[in-house]
Amino acid sequence: MAVVDTTRTVSEILSRTLDGERLSDADALTLMQSRDLVAIGTAANEIRNRKANPGEVTYIVDRNINYTNVCVTDCNFCAFYRKPGDVREGYVLPHQVIFAKIEETLAIGGTGALMQGGHNPELGIDWYEELFRAVKERYPKFHMHALSPPEVMYISRRAGLSIADTISRLRDAGLDSIPGGGGEILVDRVRTILAPKKTKSDEWLEVMRQAHRQGMTTSATMMYGHVETLAERVEHMRRLRELQDEVPGFRAFISWTFQPDNTELGKTVNETPTSFEYLLVQAISRLYFDNIPHIQSSWVTQGMKIGQVALHFGADDLGSVMLEENVVSSAGTTHRATTEDFCRVIRNAGYKPIQRDTYYRVVNDDPEASLRAAPVVEPV
Ligand code: SF4
Repeated sequence: MAVVDTTRTVSEILSRTLDGERLSDADALTLMQSRDLVAIGTAANEIRNRKANPGEVTYIVDRNINYTNVCVTDCNFCAFYRKPGDVREGYVLPHQVIFAKIEETLAIGGTGALMQGGHNPELGIDWYEELFRAVKERYPKFHMHALSPPEVMYISRRAGLSIADTISRLRDAGLDSIPGGGGEILVDRVRTILAPKKTKSDEWLEVMRQAHRQGMTTSATMMYGHVETLAERVEHMRRLRELQDEVPGFRAFISWTFQPDNTELGKTVNETPTSFEYLLVQAISRLYFDNIPHIQSSWVTQGMKIGQVALHFGADDLGSVMLEENVVSSAGTTHRATTEDFCRVIRNAGYKPIQRDTYYRVVNDDPEASLRAAPVVEPV
């Protein structure tokens, strides 16, 4: 019997996707294996232009607040954490320090914080509730995008509460939305190598399922380029797309490459993805996630030049003008940018910059005019 080759060519796949057919896992894998970056990027850009304003790119002004670096989970790709008992370098930020960071963010027109930290056995759910309540009492409109699924899971286990009850208590205290950190690759073979003590794939997804069920929105991420196969990247994306079909809540998908410096895993991974591969994966993500509205480029890990180019490979958002970043910079990657830099980079890529909030609502539809109107501060 003749063997029928069911493998579609890249151009067949792209043409069907542009016609509205959902990208299958097999076809996504074919695209991952392809080197046809320009064709895939062009198709991703076309889809991006159907889902978002073709003339605009959004960004947010916020800051990372890493409230503690003490962690018991020992992920071997992490250069940020310190073990409990590290009196020299372990820390928990006092409330007053967190308030000062929020005030700095508000002073430059920021709207929220991405607050994540280690799995610190000293901090029970009441510590988080007190913190969120205190923040909301002082800054009621400040958005707390906080606690990735592994942190929520750790807090729930320590408190002996269900995930649903943990989220509902944290939400009542002031948690607004949940970032997609700690997703890495949602395949347990990979997770066992990267972080054997961390939440498994089903648990990560269950936190997001419960959050979405309670009406909370979240983001989805992928950290790749370490020990996973291309098929496992597709499996990761499939699990996110399935959950989004079941109970929507992911606002955006953000992918980035493993940052190896100062990490245990970095000693064993010989090659990390090139910029070519980064752009390819991002473009495929735009084609694959027909049910997630926004794709964000990751200038923090790729640098602003690739972050800018990525705006023509399916991304409609440049992420955050961050006042502070500690996790990626611990792994040897430090990129900084101001609102002026963001506006210049977006404008030079051919788009109008738009400042948004965490819900992707417009905060400032002409940030360049605001910059021009800002008083000139003479250096002292
Ligand atoms: S990635 Fe998060 S959970 Fe893992 S060791 Fe670092 S701080 Fe802990």
